[in-house]
Amino acid sequence: MNSLPYRHTKIVFTIGPATNSVKMLSDLFASGVDVCRFNMAHADHDWTRDAIANIREASLAVGRKVALMMDVKGPEIRTGPLDVPFELERDDEFDFYLHRGKEPVTKGIRGVRVNYPDLANDVTEGDTILVDSGLIRLRVNEVSDKKIRCVVRIGGSLGSRRHINLPGVHVNLPALTIKDRKDIEIGIENGIDFFALSFVRSPDDLDMLRRFIEENGSTAKIIAKIEDQSAISNLEDIVKASDGLMVARGDLGIEIPYETLPLVQRRAVRTCQRLGKPVIVATHMLESMIHNPLPTRAEVTDIANAVFEQADCVMLSGETTVGKYPVECVNVMNRIINSVEAQADRKSNDSFPLKSPKALMLKSAMILSDELPGCAILVFTKSGYLARTLSTLRPRKSPVFAFTDVPEVFQELLIYWGVEPFLIQFDEDPEETIQDALSRLKSRGWVESRAHVVVVSNVFAGSKIIDTIQYRSAP
Ligand code: PEP
Repeated sequence: MNSLPYRHTKIVFTIGPATNSVKMLSDLFASGVDVCRFNMAHADHDWTRDAIANIREASLAVGRKVALMMDVKGPEIRTGPLDVPFELERDDEFDFYLHRGKEPVTKGIRGVRVNYPDLANDVTEGDTILVDSGLIRLRVNEVSDKKIRCVVRIGGSLGSRRHINLPGVHVNLPALTIKDRKDIEIGIENGIDFFALSFVRSPDDLDMLRRFIEENGSTAKIIAKIEDQSAISNLEDIVKASDGLMVARGDLGIEIPYETLPLVQRRAVRTCQRLGKPVIVATHMLESMIHNPLPTRAEVTDIANAVFEQADCVMLSGETTVGKYPVECVNVMNRIINSVEAQADRKSNDSFPLKSPKALMLKSAMILSDELPGCAILVFTKSGYLARTLSTLRPRKSPVFAFTDVPEVFQELLIYWGVEPFLIQFDEDPEETIQDALSRLKSRGWVESRAHVVVVSNVFAGSKIIDTIQYRSAP
């Protein structure tokens, strides 16, 4: 059984060629990752199935479960294939071909096809087209139904199938493409817990995804990836329609002026905390460690900042898909999280409105526990509500140990700040269940003998079941 130190901030890693083996996954799980993300912009179906089988095997070997998140690519625009890259220089003219038939090549002007033939309806003269993470910048000069003629403002080497960003342009592509639907079907067949939707522009995009997931018989949760200006304009409604948010800083930092990114991150984290939804801070957290064994000082501070903000999760992408040091990256994150969490002067979250007596009862449990030195909160939950609410309240000191007998709830709780979930059988006698929970915590070294414990649970009062907060001392 794995017994790592307790931490509040969770770690998401992205699986890729560098990590898709039982050995490597076992090492990552033993290092304490909580969620494994599949980036469907790169993974095909056979690879995904094979990786999920490896994950299950590694999980069994290490005795630690992780949640599975499938990140579907959504309305993404890419350039077409190229045999040799084009070297583009400032002031060169360049065409994006929209036509499906013969390419409308003009002598002396180079060009490449794009995968979205209706792009001409969305862009106008003067708009900016960014290619390959914003490294190449072009200005739209002329739009026709066959091609978009641009002039290069910042040159670079244009390779095959590069990602296109259109800052400030509303793209009319559907939120869920045919490929996304096929990917999600494979995800559902293989027990994915979270679907993350790229380039969410409005709550309708999430409603459409939720309908599709439910029609296909899954209760998986939905993470909205905010990556462009429409998502920022509709942030509040997007958070409400989702089960969690990802601040996808890679694309976001291209679509909006980069100097506003820290402000958007802070606003997104706070909005999620106010609305009671988990939030993931993603991308470039340890980018230099794709090649180097140690982080830069700025990366250390970036992760620490997310921990200070009390984001639920920090995320690794290229660092674990293709990087040379995946396990080291997780260890670095662990060290930073543990160091900052031990010293941070945490505040509980009072922006979240507590509407029901049950929610107020949880706040009372938190206050009691935070006042008692070394106290832990134990909750027993079938729907996950008690654990999710306690996480949102952000106890200043107390860890939240959540016991459930519902596998889907266990998996969901893995991404919540401060919640360590356990999947157990509930006994008919609640006291037996509590004793079982306490002995599990003691055997992991997470609760010591005679430690203070606050238990939130149902008990029988005659023939009635009532909610209780109990103070106990661990046996
Ligand atoms: C991002 O853009 O930051 C992101 C997480 O999305 P992707 O990795 O799909 O580009």
